[in-house]
Amino acid sequence: MTIGVLALQGAVAEHIRMIEKAGGTGVAVKRTEQLAEIDGIIIPGGESTTIGKLMRTYQFIDALREFSRQGKPLFGTCAGLIVLAKHIAGQEEAHLGLMDIQVARNAFGRQRESFETDLDIKGIDHDVRAVFIRAPLIEQVGEGVEVLAMYRDQIVAARQGHLLAASFHPELTDDERMHAYFLDMVRETKQEGSPC
Ligand code: GLN
Repeated sequence: MTIGVLALQGAVAEHIRMIEKAGGTGVAVKRTEQLAEIDGIIIPGGESTTIGKLMRTYQFIDALREFSRQGKPLFGTCAGLIVLAKHIAGQEEAHLGLMDIQVARNAFGRQRESFETDLDIKGIDHDVRAVFIRAPLIEQVGEGVEVLAMYRDQIVAARQGHLLAASFHPELTDDERMHAYFLDMVRETKQEGSPC
């Protein structure tokens, strides 16, 4: 299984390392033509306004909406979660606007700009160490969105069918289980798509 990492800005090499650790093949995606060669894509952390602008410049908005329409999985981490969301608090416009969630940017306040904690994530045995950096949180979820993890009453991971989102950076620890979870999602959709 080949997983792309959108390589316009942000933590790309770290995600590729984790995809490989979880048993997949990771590629940096810089051009829309590459989307035809991958089975799923990760939109990494970074700065969502910058990533959104670069996505518009390089025609990734429509191309990734089409990728999603084909049922191919997308995983947004931190800024990538903001890029996936249908609603961004205080902003008129979304970026991809695919996932039925409302997110708040930089939601943990100044003192907690960056911190680590252990999270209980639905579908993963035993806690996962999570690194939060100027992280967004999910304020509201629509029907069909499953909450996967909470941190102090706040939603920090969720899934809607083939869309996965996490407020934290799963690529910044040595624990590849969040990437393995995404690879399982990709495997499921490939099986559904193939003739029996
Ligand atoms: N605060 C950033 C934003 O709003 C996201 C931070 C991150 O990806 N680590 O885009």
